[in-house]
Amino acid sequence: MSVVTASARSNPVDAPLARYIDQLLEDVVADLPYDDVTARLERRQYVIDRLKLDFSKDAARLAAQFGIDETERRLDAPTAGEWIRHHCKTSRSVAYDSINVGEQLSRIPKCAQAMEGGEIGFAHLSVIARTSSALAKAMPESVFNEDEVLQRARESSAGRLWHYCLRLRHALDPEGVAHDQRVAVEERRLQFTVWEDGSLLISGQLDPIGGAALRTALEPLAQPMGQGDERCLERRQGDAVVELSLHSLDAGLVPQHASQRPHLQVTTSLETLQGLPGSPAADMEFSTPISSTTVQRLACDANIARVVFGPMSVVVDVGRAARVVSGATRRALNARDQHYQWPGCERTASWTAAHHLVHWVQGGATDLSNLILLCHRHHWMVHEGGWKLARSDDHRLLAIPPVYDYYARAPDTAPAA
Ligand SMILES: [Zn+2]
Ligand SMILES: [Zn+2]
Repeated sequence: MSVVTASARSNPVDAPLARYIDQLLEDVVADLPYDDVTARLERRQYVIDRLKLDFSKDAARLAAQFGIDETERRLDAPTAGEWIRHHCKTSRSVAYDSINVGEQLSRIPKCAQAMEGGEIGFAHLSVIARTSSALAKAMPESVFNEDEVLQRARESSAGRLWHYCLRLRHALDPEGVAHDQRVAVEERRLQFTVWEDGSLLISGQLDPIGGAALRTALEPLAQPMGQGDERCLERRQGDAVVELSLHSLDAGLVPQHASQRPHLQVTTSLETLQGLPGSPAADMEFSTPISSTTVQRLACDANIARVVFGPMSVVVDVGRAARVVSGATRRALNARDQHYQWPGCERTASWTAAHHLVHWVQGGATDLSNLILLCHRHHWMVHEGGWKLARSDDHRLLAIPPVYDYYARAPDTAPAA
């Protein structure tokens, strides 16, 4: 028996085939004007779908050969999916999806026909095939009602069809759906990569239900907030994750670890806190060194962060010092500032920090006359972002934007006064 090696099969294209394909690609859109891009796209997608369908038929035939006649050894691949992934230069999901569609075609002939007629796409067919095979596995003798699903496929996107198919599948095979969701939970992961500048790159995967919990928690926080909020959705979602984390620490919602309540912990010299020229950057756990402007914000409402002066200065744990806004003052602030915040900002008092109009490090008092509630984002905008706060004649709070570009140079701010 001749052995077919990987390298002998690695390039399936010869010159006549390439010429034929070139001609075909031209012929497919020959009757459409070059400027009619949408019609050309639709036509080309139809051709792609037809090719995928035929690809699936052969993929299923290959899969059927595995397990007999030593195919694994002959092709040097453990499964047909792995062989396709490697030799047809595609992804694992495409390989296994193709095999599955091919294997299910005898159960869903009308759907395949509808795809050949251009009524539905290959993406629809793939969703239907996945549902069909899941049901076939759970109940081998079950009859798949093709007409109903096909009608749905004609009316909806592949994404919506998947929702419909899941509901249908659950009605027939609830254990199977529960099993899939259990597996998806086991596959949850979250990875952090720290870049050179200390920024955190986040990647991961959540199951549908866990993902929904995260999105439900973040969505209200990621709404545009206050006047002139022009942040894009991705930026707002990034801000929302930080805000949720700060609030959880702030409100003591994170369980204690080794008898310590989790805090943002900053170690700084007094000079850095005062923003004096020549003072070093401060240290913060899990972060690269941070600027004095940020230290001032974190120390402003020391409920959020525990600030410890470094060895060069008198060691004071600000987390326990008198600058912390006392319970009574905070309650009075909450009552007063319920509707007296950043213009247009609707964060409730428990989601805010108490901002010192004149920072305590510069002698500002920790009492009602010098305190105002700001949500974490607007607090950041006042300290690091260079915005100023002022009161109008009728005692409304005014937020005055900075005149420089955030990214061009750092703000040379003293704390807002
Ligand atoms: Zn502040
Ligand atoms: Zn706000």
